[in-house]
Amino acid sequence: MENKSQLTVNVVTPDGLIYDHHATIVVANTISGELGILPNHAPIIAPLAIDEVRVRRTDSDTHVDWIAVNGGIMEVRDNVVTIIADTAERERDIDVSRAERAKQRAEQRIEEAKASHDTDQLRRSEVALHRAINRINVSKHR
Ligand code: ATP
Repeated sequence: MENKSQLTVNVVTPDGLIYDHHATIVVANTISGELGILPNHAPIIAPLAIDEVRVRRTDSDTHVDWIAVNGGIMEVRDNVVTIIADTAERERDIDVSRAERAKQRAEQRIEEAKASHDTDQLRRSEVALHRAINRINVSKHR
């Protein structure tokens, strides 16, 4: 039977199940603000921002796992939190120098897009910059 005092947290990407742990609380950033999920939360589906997800695991009083998610959706139902995103990386799996390079590339493309008034490239580059900054921020928690 499902344990009513804990959550199961699954993060799924096209690469497969990248995270599967029991937790006491999950904090995620939806596009309309931060959402803390405790056991026995009402069922919800929420679109996520490109941001960090924090998971306090049941097997540690002090340790928090940090996951950089690239948007996606979160579903909560029957004490199972499922996050489905295009990409998601745990803090320890983030290649910081790759993210720094992606950040610099995105900044350069933003300048180019502004100079050429290319709004599509500007929007894409701003999203890429956001992704890179999120990875850099999450990597600091390793
Ligand atoms: P890059 O320009 O460095 O490829 P990106 O934002 O375009 O960055 P994505 O398309 O979001 O990359 O991701 C492609 C794959 O690479 C995904 O599996 C993602 O988890 C992984 N990935 C991207 N950046 C990093 C990173 N800095 N560290 C670890 N994995 C990464």
